[in-house]
Amino acid sequence: MSYEGKMLADYKMPTRKEVEQALLKTLFKHNGVVKEFAKGEEIVDEIANEFMLNESQRTAVLERIYHKENRIVKTPLWHRLLFRAADSLAKEKLVSKPTSTIQLTNKKEWMLTESGFDAALKLLNIPKTQKEFLPTKSFEVQKIVKKLIETPRPQNYNPFDKEKKIVKVSLESALRARGFRQAIIEAYDYRCAFCGLKINSPDSLYWEVEAAHIVPHSSMGKDDIWNGLALCSLHHWAFEVGWFTLHDNFNIQVSSKVNSLPSDFGRVKDYDFIRVYSSKSSKIILPKRKENYPHQNSIRWHRENKFYH
Ligand SMILES: [Zn+2]
Repeated sequence: MSYEGKMLADYKMPTRKEVEQALLKTLFKHNGVVKEFAKGEEIVDEIANEFMLNESQRTAVLERIYHKENRIVKTPLWHRLLFRAADSLAKEKLVSKPTSTIQLTNKKEWMLTESGFDAALKLLNIPKTQKEFLPTKSFEVQKIVKKLIETPRPQNYNPFDKEKKIVKVSLESALRARGFRQAIIEAYDYRCAFCGLKINSPDSLYWEVEAAHIVPHSSMGKDDIWNGLALCSLHHWAFEVGWFTLHDNFNIQVSSKVNSLPSDFGRVKDYDFIRVYSSKSSKIILPKRKENYPHQNSIRWHRENKFYH
């Protein structure tokens, strides 16, 4: 038995397979990303806590002699076990290594891949159909998000995708749809562009905000950042049915139908969710980067085709 193997056995450390599974679950809990581990990183303790490691298991040190440099390198045994587990997940293509993730996020992080995401869901008994709603990052989807957010804004944008296949859902279009959703809700900082509502589920897994298409899917609207808005479910509905639209300067316009609306309609106790925008000119809450603002060609189409004048 190797020196390291003997240490692992002496200290009754968890097996590598067990650590791999714990790491996948932890990645899932942290939305698909954890910082590259260094000593003292919270994540190192978090997983140690899950295995209820005792003090000596946490502090055991492995000494390796570097003959060439004639020095001894000391590594905590637990830290090394964790790193080996992560490395082996990377070999199985279940996570991306910090050296690859950095190209996407500019941070040295471990990130789930699509297969790693699937594996984590399986371990946690969460159906795969939830992928669409979970904010969990995956390497493949983040690549799309990066592209959507960083593509330079075109002068003359065409929000229609003539090639769009609406019936057949391919894996590629499913990834693209998740990339669109993620890019939109991130660009709008998880808030409704109308009311500013920002809320997630108590387990922090799900965000309430939805990624709405301005030119909808059914009218061949593209999955681009310039054809999207982050909206709470109430405002998403109201925008889709034509209660609201936007001007080119992003001011909200309310349908004139509001004047014949029974007075008890559209109220949430004292809050009047339609009339509140009809009296004064109010702008939507826009993304931080101007490049990510909705495009005038998308909102013009909405004004002319969806808005109930
Ligand atoms: Zn809202």
